[in-house]
Amino acid sequence: MKSLWNDKDAKKIGDDDLGLRVYTSRLLGAEPSLVLHGGGNTSVKSGHRNIYGEEDEVLYVKGSGWDLATIEKPGFAPVRLDELRRMAELRELDDTTMVKLQRAAMTDPYAPNPSVEAILHAIIPYKFVDHTHADAVVTLTNTPRGKKIIKEIYGDTVLVVPYVMPGFILARTIYEMTDGMDWSSIDGIILWSHGVFTFADDARRSYEQMIRLVSKAEDYLKAHGKTEKAKAGRPKVDLNQLARIRKAACVYRERPVLVQVDQSPDQVRFADRPDLRKISQRGPLTPDHIIRTKRVPVIVGADPQAAFDKYAVDYRDYFNEFGNAGLSCLDRAPRWGVWPGVGTLAFGTSLKENGIITDIKRHTVAAITVAEELGGWRALGPKDLFDIEYWELEQAKLKKAGAPPPFQGRVVLVTGAASGIGKACVDAFAARGAAVAAVDINPKVHSLFDQPAVLPVITDVTEEGAVKKAVEQTVATFGGLDIVVSNAGIFPAGERLAEMNAKTWEKSLAVNLTSHQLLIKHAAEFLPYGINPNIVIIASKNVPAPGPGAGAYSVPKAGLTQLGRVAALELAGAGVRVNMLHPNAVFDTSIWTEDVLEKRAASYGLTVEEYKKSNLLQTEITSHDVADLVVAVAGPAFAKTTGAQIPVDGGNERVI
Ligand SMILES: [Zn+2]
Repeated sequence: MKSLWNDKDAKKIGDDDLGLRVYTSRLLGAEPSLVLHGGGNTSVKSGHRNIYGEEDEVLYVKGSGWDLATIEKPGFAPVRLDELRRMAELRELDDTTMVKLQRAAMTDPYAPNPSVEAILHAIIPYKFVDHTHADAVVTLTNTPRGKKIIKEIYGDTVLVVPYVMPGFILARTIYEMTDGMDWSSIDGIILWSHGVFTFADDARRSYEQMIRLVSKAEDYLKAHGKTEKAKAGRPKVDLNQLARIRKAACVYRERPVLVQVDQSPDQVRFADRPDLRKISQRGPLTPDHIIRTKRVPVIVGADPQAAFDKYAVDYRDYFNEFGNAGLSCLDRAPRWGVWPGVGTLAFGTSLKENGIITDIKRHTVAAITVAEELGGWRALGPKDLFDIEYWELEQAKLKKAGAPPPFQGRVVLVTGAASGIGKACVDAFAARGAAVAAVDINPKVHSLFDQPAVLPVITDVTEEGAVKKAVEQTVATFGGLDIVVSNAGIFPAGERLAEMNAKTWEKSLAVNLTSHQLLIKHAAEFLPYGINPNIVIIASKNVPAPGPGAGAYSVPKAGLTQLGRVAALELAGAGVRVNMLHPNAVFDTSIWTEDVLEKRAASYGLTVEEYKKSNLLQTEITSHDVADLVVAVAGPAFAKTTGAQIPVDGGNERVI
């Protein structure tokens, strides 16, 4: 590991104490093997002139909720140093009182809550203090010969602290251990199964001391752990089984989750190990990961539901063994899993959560793999881990304001996604938290939706092989399929039956009817494992109220409606709903060119303006109006409705 210090960049942020503190904190945060997702914290001791003109000695310590990689000056909580030092002198201090005392000692009441390690930072007699959860060091402490190895690497240059609960107990332990100690005799502190502290009066020295200590551990691992070079192939993923795994994963989480299969070489190798069932069940890399990943992964086999049931039973036992009357059991769903022979799995309610889980499990798998080469992976025992998982100060990290978006964790596939109603549906579902496959023949889908939750898929929906692939790509990416918006359509030239061009007729049948049949056929393999699964078909007002000169459009749309009715009958047994919408006169779609509009208006003897609002409510219908109805029909209000045909046409006396 190399120092990333650069004089120019350091000056850019500012060469005052807090500016330098921000700069080196970000350098630590830039290295995921030092701190992952909120792990680690830093501080600087500095003066602060109060309103009365007096100088306060203040500890600026990382605030809760800030990440070192992106921290800014307001991310540091200013706490009066003398107060923190007095707290270390107490024999006991419960968390609630500690949080209260620390808030009361802040010189800015609007700053975030100080890190749980604030007292420890305060008693270290140096200006800059850096704390990380370095993978390499923690990995070494989590092996049977860890003590000898740490001694071999560092000699007497570090203080080694056995594992105790972070927060006040850790600060108090170190306060006692260092009583009368000459701090200049050590380069840092190693916390067993937890991390590293370094310190100096200079920002750069404290940071580079961290890099030096961690590099020594990395060098040891490189020299003593075998580095697997053999390339792992990419085993095939059984998508039907994946959809079953996702269904099982949602049960104990009590919310829909997205399942992402990780087939990076290290994960495939791990999933292939014969000792997998033993080594994967020993615990996480550092205790703070437990709030993101739970203590252990689930191992899914041929019967995914049975695996999740067993996980939930084991979790209940763990809770009963270590919990007390004041606690209520958290959800019993795993956050990651191992699919033997295939890869590892993340079960997050959003892509963001899956990203965090994936980062942590990759670091965990790497640590377990190398520790096995050094005699075996030994994580902290379940009692200590339980105390962290149920520690209110850890759980506080997960608390966010407000309810999750209504379609979070749901997987939607929309055809005809590049324009009009289809695009409006993609936007509407994505805005409500869903993961959406945006399917269209137009490559524009790639540039239309600039967000990770939208998967653009270029597909000719009239080609069966392409439709099958689009469905499979959706399941492979998000783990399953819940909602299909079968929307792709064209508005063919207005030809009367007597002068119908064969090509016009055939193309309309292919796009407006057969493509929907192909989509239903292939989606039907996965929808039965979906969460409140359903299909919404975009038909047309022309079905109940056809007009002259639009036979090539109206006839396939009528067939499409019949297709939906049959699908509702056939899929009801699997719990899949199918409903049809009959929009009319939605003019902000690509099928309504000026030319088509004028011709249609003329065929009714109306001006374009009159034609646009020619409905009972005299209102214009937009693609967003239709998308809002699609979202409603796909959602809980319609959970008990199938085979329905719902107009969205401003009211039409021929339909009513
Ligand atoms: Zn820590």
